[in-house]
Amino acid sequence: APRDGLGPYISHPTSFPPTAVITHNENFVYIRDMYPKSIIHTLLLPRDQSKTKLHPFDAFSNLEFLRKTMYEAKKLKALVAEELKRLFGEQEGRDWEQEVKVGVHAAPSMNHLHVHVLSRDCVSERLKTVKHYNSFNTPFFIELDEFPLAEDDERRNPTRGALLKQELQCWRCGKSFKNQIKQLKEHLDEEFEEWKKTPKVS
Ligand code: 5GP
Ligand code: ZN
Repeated sequence: APRDGLGPYISHPTSFPPTAVITHNENFVYIRDMYPKSIIHTLLLPRDQSKTKLHPFDAFSNLEFLRKTMYEAKKLKALVAEELKRLFGEQEGRDWEQEVKVGVHAAPSMNHLHVHVLSRDCVSERLKTVKHYNSFNTPFFIELDEFPLAEDDERRNPTRGALLKQELQCWRCGKSFKNQIKQLKEHLDEEFEEWKKTPKVS
């Protein structure tokens, strides 16, 4: 089934080319997202059979497992930051790790537990819909650092539809684009030219 598409990476990491599987160890596989929603988009896949079919909220309520996953996610984040530095150069006062997001979707579509580790730009031909964009730029995207979630965290019962359909907002300048994905994407192309040269002045 298409929703089980991440399974083979976990069971047979060595059967994939290095363009698909970045690296693996006994407990984790680092892969490239096949439909990247940013210039660099990777996934961290835990291999623990007792966790891989759990919802992230449940899997990451185990603090020992959360700690291990955070440790690996930090390593993958550093790799992604290295790639950004290779692409756009070492820049005075720039920490490329600050341009990398690490987290999960409140309602994942793929069955195997995975953590997204991606650059913030959202510039990609594969990013086509309002839902695609909002799934990485609203509270639907939950940073790994926010786990474990409190018992009463409202994202445990996310108003998913609402978050994914909410008004499009540029992640960099906050400008609103209503539901106009085409206009947002043109704007993100312009922001990209600035972003790759200049850290956000905040
Ligand atoms: P989710 O919405 O479940 O958090 O995201 C699943 C991610 O898996 C998506 O970003 C999607 O592009 C990616 N994906 C779906 N199928 C495959 C696949 O077969 N291989 C790889 N490498 N990524 C996939
Ligand atoms: Zn903007």
